[in-house]
Amino acid sequence: MILELKNKVDREQAEKIAEKIKAFLIVTEGKHTLITGASMKEVPAEIENEVERYWVFDNDIQLASKKYRKNKRSVHIGNVEIGGDTKNTILIGGPCSVESEEQIRQSSELLVEMGLTTLRGGCYKPRTSPYSFQGLGLEGLKLLAKMRQEYGLNVITEVRDATHVHEVIEYSDVIQIGAKAMYDQGILRACAKTNKPVLIKRGFGTTLKEFVQAAEFVLSGGNENVILCERGLRTFETFTRFTLDLCGVAWLQEHVNLPIVLDPSHAMGFSYGVPVLSKACVAMGIDGLLIEVHPTPKLAKSDASQQLNHDEFRKLHQELQPVAQSVGYKMI
Ligand code: PEP
Ligand code: MN
Repeated sequence: MILELKNKVDREQAEKIAEKIKAFLIVTEGKHTLITGASMKEVPAEIENEVERYWVFDNDIQLASKKYRKNKRSVHIGNVEIGGDTKNTILIGGPCSVESEEQIRQSSELLVEMGLTTLRGGCYKPRTSPYSFQGLGLEGLKLLAKMRQEYGLNVITEVRDATHVHEVIEYSDVIQIGAKAMYDQGILRACAKTNKPVLIKRGFGTTLKEFVQAAEFVLSGGNENVILCERGLRTFETFTRFTLDLCGVAWLQEHVNLPIVLDPSHAMGFSYGVPVLSKACVAMGIDGLLIEVHPTPKLAKSDASQQLNHDEFRKLHQELQPVAQSVGYKMI
């Protein structure tokens, strides 16, 4: 249940009420707001006089629910806005992993040349094998910070586990929580305590409910800047890497008030499928697209088969613009 308190209730009183009914307390749109589990269906009699409005839910999708906030939330990535009333589709590009200064500089120059604003690149890679390239760690984060400074780009990079979450928060403009990390309570709770945008990727075996519940951890801890990212599910199919759940995206658009970014690169696993899938995604009217692009994909240290080369990425950007326009969106 979500309970919005009356303006007359000050912080100290709000904290006491939260303690009494074992609720989370956040300030949203200037109002002290309490969140309990969805099993609470009625306003407790002892706080009735302090409550301005309240919402009852069937399950713990609450702050992220359109029943609570009909309009999509807006999230600022540096000076760029997505969600809200913007109808912007942000194209986020960059390699799977930051590999060297030379490589990430080439990616940065590509984005600047194309008028794009946001660079991706993993530094702590959650690899399936311990013998694969694990990322440059802090050295990679410093390279991203250098690119941010030199090229004025916003950077997004992923947290693999809670041991380096504070480093990632410090060095990035958007914190990416990967498909394998999205259940990690340490990460979710740490991300709840910052105001930096958090992009949560859906696990490949995660239900929509669990996906949105991960977002609820961040929202109920006080960080309202949450973006959801669909990147494919594991199904019986083996010819493609994963199966992009566009039905799930339609469900989220109907029921959830958070901006949605799609990642066709990880879903497909092969670069040939990324352009057509990207068009299908953009045609749904989405808030962003996350695409892996590498100066020399064949030599990439991770996810080599799915990364576009620079020319393919430029072409894709051009082809996506009319698709976005046809559904009232603008590629930015
Ligand atoms: C990535 O973005 O490079 C990545 C590892 O993604 P995911 O967590 O979706 O597998
Ligand atoms: Mn990758």
